[in-house]
Amino acid sequence: MNLSRKLMIEPGSRLRLSRCDPGDTPGFNSKASAARVLEKNLARLAELQYLLYAQNRHALLIVLQGPDASGKDGTIRHVMSGLNPQGVVVTPFKVPSAEELDHDFLWRVHQKVPPRGDIGIFNRSHYEDVLVVRVHELAPREVWSRRYEQINAFEKMLVENDVRILKFFLHIGKDEQKKRIQERIDDPTRNWKLSASDFEERKYFDDYRKAYEDVLSHCSTPTAPWYLVPSNHKWFRNLAVSQIIVEALEELHMKFPPPQIDLSKFRLQ
Ligand code: AMP
Ligand code: MG
Repeated sequence: MNLSRKLMIEPGSRLRLSRCDPGDTPGFNSKASAARVLEKNLARLAELQYLLYAQNRHALLIVLQGPDASGKDGTIRHVMSGLNPQGVVVTPFKVPSAEELDHDFLWRVHQKVPPRGDIGIFNRSHYEDVLVVRVHELAPREVWSRRYEQINAFEKMLVENDVRILKFFLHIGKDEQKKRIQERIDDPTRNWKLSASDFEERKYFDDYRKAYEDVLSHCSTPTAPWYLVPSNHKWFRNLAVSQIIVEALEELHMKFPPPQIDLSKFRLQ
């Protein structure tokens, strides 16, 4: 099954997350069958990354967003495990520094867009500027509400300059989030991951959901679509993300560049 088509959010559509089951696993009914496909995807991804690097024409930008404990870190760990670290840069976006806040909100983001030949992964992104900023009223409505269009224009510019953009929303249910945070509480080796905000932010789960619905409705564009990844099952999440990346890279029809020298004229001594 073509998962890109299945999970892509139709540009211009009005999305209701309550109608999307985070426990869905379209096309797969067991972890074991998905594991085989995941393994194949990771092997193919390594080949495609090599081509991307060799051709040095396109960049690939992967944006990961989702509620706390939705699995952004886990996705990076699993899906990127087969890649050559030399061509991948992961950028986590945290609370902006004083210097960053003195610039427009895309300033810090643009600097981290991957160069040709590379894969860049954003763990959170410029979308925080219409998510946490909106939910916690860190900027007035007239400021953040203009950002959807600004983001679309920014991403369009990047796409026109050979940056392929894939945006993944990791959709988990409120109960699943609770279960995962409880696991972090119960496991001493994972206590370090917990912060006051993990407890505090749950109170805003529904506000975030609304903010996400607007992001996914306004900013899924034909050139830079959002993919809604049902993520209650980690195995499906990993499978879906890996498969959509493979499908997008295949679509670039990349080829090795011709040799830079006439090899018939050289003899290796
Ligand atoms: P984590 O990803 O768990 O390390 O947390 C990073 C924190 O930085 C989250 O609470 C984000 O909401 C916050 N953050 C990221 N970008 C922004 C932003 N533009 N404005 C305010 N907070 C942000
Ligand atoms: Mg975190």
